[in-house]
Amino acid sequence: MRIETLAVHAGQEPDPATGAVTPPIHLSTTFERAPDGSYPHGHMYSRTSNPNRAALEASLAALEGGTGAAAFASGSAAAMTVFQALAPGDHVLAPDDVYHGTARLLRETFVPWGLAMDFVDMTDLARVQAALRPETRLLWVETPSNPLLKITDIAALATLAHAAGALVVCDNTWATPILQRPLALGADLVVHATTKYLGGHSDVLGGGVVGDEASEFFRRVRSIQTTGGAVPSPFECWLVLRGIRTLPYRMRAHSENALAVARFLNGHPAVEVVHYPGLETHAGYAVAQRQMTLPGGMISFQVRGDSTRAMAVAAQVRVFTRATSLGGPESLIEHRASVEGPETRTPQNLLRLSIGLEHHDDLIEDLAQALQ
Ligand SMILES: *Cc1c(COP(=O)(O)O)cnc(C)c1O
Repeated sequence: MRIETLAVHAGQEPDPATGAVTPPIHLSTTFERAPDGSYPHGHMYSRTSNPNRAALEASLAALEGGTGAAAFASGSAAAMTVFQALAPGDHVLAPDDVYHGTARLLRETFVPWGLAMDFVDMTDLARVQAALRPETRLLWVETPSNPLLKITDIAALATLAHAAGALVVCDNTWATPILQRPLALGADLVVHATTKYLGGHSDVLGGGVVGDEASEFFRRVRSIQTTGGAVPSPFECWLVLRGIRTLPYRMRAHSENALAVARFLNGHPAVEVVHYPGLETHAGYAVAQRQMTLPGGMISFQVRGDSTRAMAVAAQVRVFTRATSLGGPESLIEHRASVEGPETRTPQNLLRLSIGLEHHDDLIEDLAQALQ
């Protein structure tokens, strides 16, 4: 089935007990055993599995084309579980502009725990090759990256990683399976912050890991999920699944709006450079055309001037909201360097936009007055 149909139906059938078309929320933490000791509905205790989480996991697996998915309480809990599934002494390569929360997780938790790691520009395969070590177990990739929207060729990276005996994990939060399906391109696992586009309404935190349920690595992820318990509540699962139903159409609208805004910014005299993979001038344009169906809803741009000038532009917006995060219906603007703190490599004159579902002319008019 096509992805629009999967988004509506995967994991979502009318409730067999009541006929309810929209799934009920099952708050019960425990499930009845049959006299023979079996669990006739497949659930025993809610940390291990429950109907709402099983439905969300079925949907995530179907959308990404995996055979299994594990849902988590946040995107960071999903990322953490992938690193916990490694062993001390393993070496990890992560992009030099990896999501700053993931960089902190690696530096502050997993390096002391015993992982070795290096940050490398994943768009430069020669550098990736040079950074590989015999004990390299995992390559983490984010494409488009945050906040520079750099594009990594997932298929080429997977070939290189597999030749070295390493796994490729793609954080697909920014693209979503509507724009790009990393497993089909050769990645071994996909990670999501469902907090963003999948939930889609800025009202639920969540995460997921998708892969091959039968693989040894995924079995470790599943085991950490069910024994560690960093899982989403039934209501949170329900909210994410509700968001997923409209995901394909929202992604088209985010993308269409973002392309219009990026073209406007690209010609503006107060703007130094626009980072958007849908612009022909973007370094990753050719790869994006090949591996993505649409360039997505995220844009970064650098104003002419310094941090103060960038903050002044953000201070003037009326339709955009000054806030972090992304993937909701409302457009957001963010001065990324001041959010990331003193260790940031993000340019001080950069503003990041999460383009929402408003009319793009209203967004363009708002940016035009703010840039004046
Ligand atoms: C937001 C985000 C995360 C972390 O997700 P949380 O739900 O906030 O923990 C991870 N990766 C990317 C690319 C993100 O945008």
